[in-house]
Amino acid sequence: MAFEGLSERLQSALKKLRGKGKVNEADVKAVMREVRLALLEADVNFKVVKEFVSRVSERAVGQEVLTSLTPGQQVIKVVNEELTQLMGGTQAKLSLDSKPSVIMMVGLQGAGKTTTSGKLAHHLQKQHKRPFLVAGDVYRPAAIRQLEVLGESIEIPVFSLGDKEDPVKIAEQGVAQAKEEGHDVVIVDTAGRLHVDETMMDELKAIRERVQPDEVLLVVDAMTGQDAVNVAENFNREMNLTGVVLTKLDGDTRGGAALSVKSVTNCPVKFAGMGEKVDALEPFHPERMASRILGMGDVLTLIEKAQANVDQEKARELERKMRTQEFTFDDFLTQLEQVKNMGSLDELLGMMPGTGQMKGLKNMQVDEKQLGKVEAIVRSMTREEKQSPDIINASRRKRLAAGSGTTVQDVNRLIKQFMDMKKMMKQFSSMTKGKKKKGMGR
Ligand code: GDP
Repeated sequence: MAFEGLSERLQSALKKLRGKGKVNEADVKAVMREVRLALLEADVNFKVVKEFVSRVSERAVGQEVLTSLTPGQQVIKVVNEELTQLMGGTQAKLSLDSKPSVIMMVGLQGAGKTTTSGKLAHHLQKQHKRPFLVAGDVYRPAAIRQLEVLGESIEIPVFSLGDKEDPVKIAEQGVAQAKEEGHDVVIVDTAGRLHVDETMMDELKAIRERVQPDEVLLVVDAMTGQDAVNVAENFNREMNLTGVVLTKLDGDTRGGAALSVKSVTNCPVKFAGMGEKVDALEPFHPERMASRILGMGDVLTLIEKAQANVDQEKARELERKMRTQEFTFDDFLTQLEQVKNMGSLDELLGMMPGTGQMKGLKNMQVDEKQLGKVEAIVRSMTREEKQSPDIINASRRKRLAAGSGTTVQDVNRLIKQFMDMKKMMKQFSSMTKGKKKKGMGR
């Protein structure tokens, strides 16, 4: 899960201050030593760590913090604000003012450039744009076909001239065709190489010269940590990037790249890839990321995801059932289907404040196979069992396993997950209600 390792270390360091009535300089110093180690271990650039720690320390030993009624909380607030600043402060949006706007995607092979081109097109489509894709990766075998298949799946046209033509010509003709057909955004996928090299840069510069993109987005693999930052520095020097897309953040437990790219290159992270599927792309919100890292959750993203992907009618019905304690195993199945639409459960849990403790849910994978098993077990339950899971004792569990072709462990796990899901839904529904009251969500 994104930032998991860093998140745990930072939270355990800061926990020592939480709830303390008085904090002195020595306390802050001791905690900051741990914060420093946590960041270094997360592969954050050492210069960035040094500056970060000194900024936080300076603010944390200030009068305003030490004399406050809740100094521990104040230090956490300072860390939160500085983490946010580190990642760019506020969300950096795409600038799409031209008609059509051209977004040029650049990056090394395997970083996720082609996948991200498709994801970005899908994202813009959801915002009522009419994107057009140009398959310009003539270098990696099958990249063009990959983009065509992706385009087909999201119903976005893909322009291609095969892999024998000059990439500059492909880009130019692609943009021209998009214009002709009245598209408002053109996403040009380009060819990467295994390493930064001159031929690639020259080719990219020639394309940029010809199509004059509004955005030049570098796609880098977050899991490569400081290598990603070095790649970003190199590309930025040559190409004047307008933004970075960090891919595979879903698998990056450390977070070094996410925390260093902006500081080192001064180029903002605009999007984060959170999985392989076409909808697994999130606009990068520094403030939300910081609060995810500090275990405060990211309720806003969660609510946005829910609004975009969950059948509102069903959700309302489920919420009512949760509230009135009528939630049954049948509802649980429906719920799983809905959650699956929202993305990986691991990521969703990372956005919920304080779900780290729910170990049962943490290891749960909502994939098709798992769903099949869950469904089989639930179908083997009697009506009474579905409604009052408390009565499912050892012999009933054995019967359910036999009846569904699963194991007793599978049944045990499901029942535990059901209980955890109940807890999670309760938390979620009270959170969204809280937001509604404050007039923040819809
Ligand atoms: P390209 O050579 O840069 O065009 O790379 P691809 O787009 O083919 O991506 C390389 C691999 O990374 C593929 O297997 C993708 O499915 C995978 N990938 C891309 N983005 C993400 C992401 O955000 N998360 C995960 N888990 N995998 C990703």
